[in-house]
Amino acid sequence: MPQLIAGNWKMFGRLAEVAPYAAALRAGAPAHVELLVCPPFTLLDRFAAALAGGPARLGGQDCHPAPEGPHTGDIAAPMLAEAGARYVILGHSERRANHGETNAIVHAKAQAAIAAGLIPIVCVGETEDEREAGEAEAVVRGQLMHSLPPGFAGVVAYEPVWAIGTGRTPTEADVTAMHAAIRAALRAQLGASGAGLRILYGGSVKPGNAASLLALPEVGGALVGGASLKAEDFLAIARAAPRG
Ligand code: PEP
Repeated sequence: MPQLIAGNWKMFGRLAEVAPYAAALRAGAPAHVELLVCPPFTLLDRFAAALAGGPARLGGQDCHPAPEGPHTGDIAAPMLAEAGARYVILGHSERRANHGETNAIVHAKAQAAIAAGLIPIVCVGETEDEREAGEAEAVVRGQLMHSLPPGFAGVVAYEPVWAIGTGRTPTEADVTAMHAAIRAALRAQLGASGAGLRILYGGSVKPGNAASLLALPEVGGALVGGASLKAEDFLAIARAAPRG
């Protein structure tokens, strides 16, 4: 399976940026990875048109557990699918921290995403205090246990909270150990299908550190925040992914 290089634009991006960004992806996307752009909801429709038939796919940054309803400010999974999204990021630490998202909520959202035909990218990761207390793996195992629905057929993104947007990354040994622990947990939880799911690393991935992070065992791609906003940097990260 090719590595998945996913860009999380967060609450950045205006309409005028879509066409040049999409054109840069069309011109420069390497063939050996799967590229994914997750822009704010307002840009989905414009991106869907700009990326149509090209090398990159489109994703949302969140969805509500219900397929529709009186939920002001939320977005439903079928709406994302209709707008052209193929993936949806769920349980990002910014959503867990800023919107009180629990594992149970993420679990319900993942079920809604799958029901709508979307591929969920479920984020997990420890805080700095949890890592310093030696609890990182236990925390992540707990998040997986309670966030992933039975038969989960999606993507997991390991994003240490303290590495997001800080320029800091875990050591290669720590990424390797955590990805091995996640793989073991997925196998235990999901059986044989847990062996094949992609596990992304996320947290301050940049062109300068992408090659070494993406080459680590059980790293199946990257979830990229800040560096995904510039097509040039995003493409440099994608080019750094190992081949097959
Ligand atoms: C993210 O928000 O998922 C992320 C990894 O951000 P950054 O790359 O900016 O650390």
